[in-house]
Formats: sequence, structure tokens, C-alpha cells
Amino acid sequence: MALVEIKNLVKTFPLKTGWFSESRSIHAVQGVSFSIEAGETLGLVGESGCGKSTLGRSLLKLIEPTSGEIRFGGNELASLSPSEMKPYRRKMQIIFQDPYSSLNPRMTIGSILEEPLIIHKLFENRKARQARVEELLSIVGLPKDAGTRYPHEFSGGQRQRVGIARALAVEPEFIVCDEPVSALDVSIQAQIINLLMDLQDKFHLTYLFISHDLRVVEHISHRVAVMYLGKIVEVGRGDEIYSDPKHPYTKALLSAVPVPDPSSGHKRILLPGEPPQPSNPPSGCPFHPRCSVAIPECSVKVPELLPVKGKDTQSAACILVDH
Ligand code: SF4
Repeated sequence: MALVEIKNLVKTFPLKTGWFSESRSIHAVQGVSFSIEAGETLGLVGESGCGKSTLGRSLLKLIEPTSGEIRFGGNELASLSPSEMKPYRRKMQIIFQDPYSSLNPRMTIGSILEEPLIIHKLFENRKARQARVEELLSIVGLPKDAGTRYPHEFSGGQRQRVGIARALAVEPEFIVCDEPVSALDVSIQAQIINLLMDLQDKFHLTYLFISHDLRVVEHISHRVAVMYLGKIVEVGRGDEIYSDPKHPYTKALLSAVPVPDPSSGHKRILLPGEPPQPSNPPSGCPFHPRCSVAIPECSVKVPELLPVKGKDTQSAACILVDH
């Protein structure tokens, strides 16, 4: 059963261009639908500015979606007020890219981890909360004395472990991991990803794992969704996306992933130019100005995200793909 389900989620931001000019909007998320099963990881990949972080935050209602449905465990959340959202806040957490800026430098790690326990009134007294803090430090592989120290005393990887412990403190069911390893060295990235996978097994967690790097999400994701200019352009099981991608954008992103054997004939597909502005999207297929196989129809027809012919789990939004 799906734990998280979104339907036609839209998030637009008003764009002020000047006192007397016409008001315009940035279409950051444009009618995105997907579901995530309990215990599953959906990887969400796309270039910076494609709307993936806005999507993650809208789905948690950290920013208010413009329209669309959000279901969590079958309950509709989109229309709930902040006070009605309170019971769900605990169950839906977020891990940020930069743990340093999201951790208060004046608070000890112990106080940072105790804070959500106080907010959600989870333990009766200080002693019980401190025992929980010690347990959290051990769960994420930090030493017992870390609780008395400050964020600047830790490395980037250790700080991200604190970020993970803070998200886990309130026993969530679902976590949005928003580029959690992008700021870390490659060797540390693997440790954090392995930790997240162990925690998923142990606590039956469900993840939306956001990254600009297809290589990063490969190991952790059961399914992968590829986002371009506010829309999902391809979604499928990890093995389908990595071994048989259908959308030209997915193919280009994958071709940029380094291969172990450079003599294998692997060819890089170069993406010309920058992604278009979400305030001024191209007509037809939003990818057409950069697509190496575009045909004239692509600048007119908006492709729908439809199941790929003969596949139950893979869909792509491209008029050249057989549906
Ligand atoms: Fe490329 Fe056309 Fe397919 Fe868009 S619809 S991805 S422009 S071939």
C-alpha cells in the first residue's frame, strides 16, 4: 500500500519584475503525481533548479502547495491547516543538504536532539529525554560524548549523522532526504548512504531521496523519477532506468555518469545550454531546445507521462517512445 501519494501537485511562485510590469509566475512544480510504498525509496533526480527540492518541501507542506492532492497513509493533507498538520509533522521529517547551516551553532548536539522531543512532548522528564539522545547518537554511529559538544567540532559527515539523528528523534515513518550527501566527499557519501539504508531496514522507513546525481541515488533507490523543469519526465524501477532508459533527458544524464571501463564504447551525450527558466518555459516538450533527437512536432505537442509499451512499471514523457 502507498504510504505517500501525490496527485497533480503544483507549486507556483509569484515573480515580481518591477512596479508597473505584468505580474508573472515561476512554475516550479507542474502537476506532479507519484506514490511511494511503505519501506520504499524513490530517488528523485534532476539538474539544479528543476523543482525537486520545492517538490520535497511542498509534499511535507513546509511550503504551501498551490494545488493538488497529498495523501499520507490514506489521509488527505493538502487542505489541512498548520494546527491540523501537527499530528503528521512527527511522522514526516526532512534531512537537509547542508547539516551545518541547519544546526544551531550555539546549541550542543544533545540540546539539538532533545529539542524535537520537547516540542512533540515525547518524554516525561529530562532523564528519559537524555537516554533517548544517547540512544540516537549510538543509532547513527556517533560517540556518547558527542551530546556535550557543538556542531563546529564535527566533520561534515558527522554533522550529517546529527541531522539524521534529529530527523529520527521523533520516530518518523517518512523522510525527505534533500541532497543529503551532495556536500560530502565521495568516500563519506557511501557511508551516509549505507547508514540510511541500514536505518530503513531497522525502522521500516520510507524515503524520497533527492539528488542532482544519478550515480548517488542508484544504490539506495528502489525506483527512480527523473524531473525536468517542474515535471517528471521518466519514472521506473532502478534496473529499468539504469539499463534501459527511454527518455532522451535520462539518457543524457546517465551518459554523464563515469563508467569503470573507459574503453567500453560509452559515449557522453552533451546537453547544450542551460535548462530554460521556469518563468518562461518553452512551448511543446519542455526539453525540446536541448534534445538531440527532437523533431518539429516536439515544439508544439506537450508529451504526457505514459507507460512504456510492454512495461508495467516504467513511464516516460516523450512522443518518440512507444506507449
Ligand atoms: Fe525530445 Fe521530442 Fe521526446 Fe521531448 S518529445 S524528449 S523533444 S524527442
